[in-house]
Amino acid sequence: MEEIKQALKQHKFTGDMDDSPETLDFYSHDASMFELRPTLVIAPKNAKDVEAAVRVVNERKKHQPELSLTARSAGTDMSGAAINTSIIVDFNKHLNKFIKQDEDIAVAQPGLLFRDFDKYTSDYMLASYPASRDLCSVGGMVNNNSGGERSLEFGKTEKYVPELKFVFADGVERVVKPLTREQLNKKMDQDDFEGKVYRDMFELVDKHYHQIKKAKPKVSKNSTGYNLWNVWDRDTGIFDLTQVIIGAQGTLGFVTEATFKLVPRRKHSGLLVLFMRDINKLGDLIPKILEHKPSTFEGFDDQTLWLSIRFMPSFFKMLGPIKFIKLLISLIPDGLQLLRGFPKLVMMVEFNGDSEEEVRNKIRALHKELSHVKARYEINGFEETPTEGASEKFWLMRRKSFQLLRSKVHDKHTAPFIDDFVVNPEYLPEFFPKLRRIIKKYKLFATIAGHMGDGNFHIIPLMKLEDKRDRAKILPAMKEVNTLVLKYKGSLSGEHNDGLVRGPWLEQMYGKEMVKLFRETKQIFDPQGIFNPRKKADADWDYSFSHIRDRY
Ligand SMILES: Cc1cc2nc3c(=O)[nH]c(=O)nc-3n(C[C@H](O)[C@H](O)[C@H](O)COP(=O)(O)OP(=O)(O)OC[C@H]3O[C@@H](n4cnc5c(N)ncnc54)[C@H](O)[C@@H]3O)c2cc1C
Repeated sequence: MEEIKQALKQHKFTGDMDDSPETLDFYSHDASMFELRPTLVIAPKNAKDVEAAVRVVNERKKHQPELSLTARSAGTDMSGAAINTSIIVDFNKHLNKFIKQDEDIAVAQPGLLFRDFDKYTSDYMLASYPASRDLCSVGGMVNNNSGGERSLEFGKTEKYVPELKFVFADGVERVVKPLTREQLNKKMDQDDFEGKVYRDMFELVDKHYHQIKKAKPKVSKNSTGYNLWNVWDRDTGIFDLTQVIIGAQGTLGFVTEATFKLVPRRKHSGLLVLFMRDINKLGDLIPKILEHKPSTFEGFDDQTLWLSIRFMPSFFKMLGPIKFIKLLISLIPDGLQLLRGFPKLVMMVEFNGDSEEEVRNKIRALHKELSHVKARYEINGFEETPTEGASEKFWLMRRKSFQLLRSKVHDKHTAPFIDDFVVNPEYLPEFFPKLRRIIKKYKLFATIAGHMGDGNFHIIPLMKLEDKRDRAKILPAMKEVNTLVLKYKGSLSGEHNDGLVRGPWLEQMYGKEMVKLFRETKQIFDPQGIFNPRKKADADWDYSFSHIRDRY
């Protein structure tokens, strides 16, 4: 690596370079179940540094095929896409600035944590924030095409990024944004790498137009594959390469700046909480609830609830003493509720509005319709008490359950391998019991939480990954769940993306022809294969499986 460091210096790289064992250990993991140890970690200070890194690897790749670059922002990726055996480019350390905001448009560097971004944009918010909102960065959100509790109402990140600055494989930063046909023609006339990318991509999406449009998964959220179906619209004449970069997990190049479209924060919100003892009613219930057009519709299972109760003291650390005491007091009625029997599923249906009255009316209307189900409702003004209030405890359990699993259960490791599938709610009555049978068959100790309104579920088993018997369950269990999801026309990932874990299944989901187009896309953007190898369409299960971590 000394030679690479020298080369970086010669290319006027001004950022940090670190290959100490502690650093390499730390960057060997993200939030996935995989381990890949890098050889060097660099932290660019500006876009010129990112360009320099790409050029250095580009120049050497022919003679050193093992060289590659993997971007990392906050490193909370659950699919194993923020780790690599070569060079990690850390965007979080320096490229983390909020640049500007003008009403509902904000510009930021990719490494900025969402929680800090959110403080800047007071009257507005980036609505696609994930459950990892306290940990992740806005760059990770773009590159995973993240979604979360508000996606039911607002959709995912792909809808909120009108413009990007992007370092292409030739080591040049350029602006990428939607183009009219005339602008596209100009780009395609360019005699440089960018011109070639536009020419080849246009040819690819135009030639296979109908096949690509047809391949778009028929679910409300999807993070698998490359978003080719959103690139070219013959009706509007708009050609938009941002759409294939969003969700590409840094396999096509590096985002150095992102422009975000924000939505106004709603003044009031209220939550209807449903405690379900009979999970078989889910299928009838979900469509009924969706008819009322809630802004969020989330849920978690009895294991998550039990875990939250068991590790209640951990919330003390997360919240501080005053909020923690408030949380305990607010839990008293729920304690009474639980005495009547432990629910199998807790569902949270949230409504927004401009007045408390409006929210109250929406909640009452749904409550009335669901009067046969044990339900109760709570209102709190989101504007006045954004992190407190009576409903906050449910949000805490929903958002923090995975973090609790990761940090509290020391003899087992979270194994996200069926962590993010989507099945349209209409199929859930049939799908859910079959899913539970697979979980039981493999004796998986797993929490289930998710975005009920989208049919997007997060199942995170706890396993002893160093134990051969537990490891041996992963592949067959994953195969059965994925096959079931696809049988119900679902997607294998609604938000967490492909990485090492789902990349190998793309062919099963999309078929050979579409995967060929995904690979051609990668080839067009990254002809030498320098960006984040073995992820997404470039992944294979033997490689991924051989890098499941066995120590933690
Ligand atoms: C507790 C928990 C809950 C989660 N809940 C959700 C959820 O509700 N919804 C959801 O979508 N995800 C969720 N995730 C997954 C993850 O947190 C999100 O996808 C998040 O947006 C990733 O952000 P990050 O900054 O950590 O990205 P990283 O992990 O650093 O990177 C994610 C991917 O983007 C690439 N990348 C990062 N920066 C750049 C860049 N500048 N240029 C090019 N590529 C780049 C990386 O190479 C990697 O492939 C959760 C994770 C955890 C641990």
